[in-house]
Amino acid sequence: PPSPGYRGRFAPSPTGDLHFGSLLAAFGSWLLARHQGGEWWVRIEDLDPPREVAGAADRQLQALSAFGLHADGPVVRQSARTACYQAALQRLLESGHAFECHCTRAELAAHAGIHRECVGRAHRDLPAIRFRVPDGASLAFEDGIQGSQAQRVDIEAGDFVLRRADGLWAYQLAVVVDDAAQGITDVVRGADLLDSTPRQILLQRALGLPLPRYAHLPLVRDEAGRKLSKSSSAWPVDPTTPAAGLRAAWHALGQHADALPAAGGVDTVLSAARAAFDPTRIPRRLRHPIV
Ligand code: GLU
Repeated sequence: PPSPGYRGRFAPSPTGDLHFGSLLAAFGSWLLARHQGGEWWVRIEDLDPPREVAGAADRQLQALSAFGLHADGPVVRQSARTACYQAALQRLLESGHAFECHCTRAELAAHAGIHRECVGRAHRDLPAIRFRVPDGASLAFEDGIQGSQAQRVDIEAGDFVLRRADGLWAYQLAVVVDDAAQGITDVVRGADLLDSTPRQILLQRALGLPLPRYAHLPLVRDEAGRKLSKSSSAWPVDPTTPAAGLRAAWHALGQHADALPAAGGVDTVLSAARAAFDPTRIPRRLRHPIV
């Protein structure tokens, strides 16, 4: 497909219902896309059946549409894309960027869980496949919200998993393959994934894929300072009162509350938000827990 000027996306994992942090990522990525006159797509990241909650993907899609956030392209499910991940993995194995690893989690625990060389003593029938991160690999990138970032990927991440020993595909590989296949130009997501970005850029380089721009939204934490997670169903958003959820997310995105009409449905709120949105007001961090 021809490369658009701007194509963003929201990519939830169906491990529970949308919570306030996911609404912030959905609305924030939608606003940034609309502000650039760009497209906004949705992808369901259902790579991990054991962690999936039955019906969650459909409820997430229904919630997005209740919030007035409609995808401009087909909604792709990662569970349907294993052949693409397999093809990418094969290329990485053939080019020497990936290798079979028989180490167990227990064996790597002695190395803080960071893989630099194989220490496994037993042969496993189905080994994990890891990406080889060269010694000294350091990666820098400019984040649209969080500013300049740098990571020593060998020390902080190590050789990372592409396909797990249980046969499941790793998020890092799937996200890179799909962002490229869908022509995503701008990845906007929660700051919990900031430290995954250098691994994803290494993969894009190794696979010869275009590099999207990145912007990481402030992370929403609960009163105890923990990251919200869908699996613990913290702060679910209520799709029956969507305008209220959008207002709270708008506030968390650092935008002027008085720019939104006091009353009115989702479409009224969204069109006012689109007109008044100022990306330079998005904070790097939230000072207080919201709600
Ligand atoms: N599926 C991931 C999540 O729900 C997000 C992936 C991404 O935006 O790159 O946390």
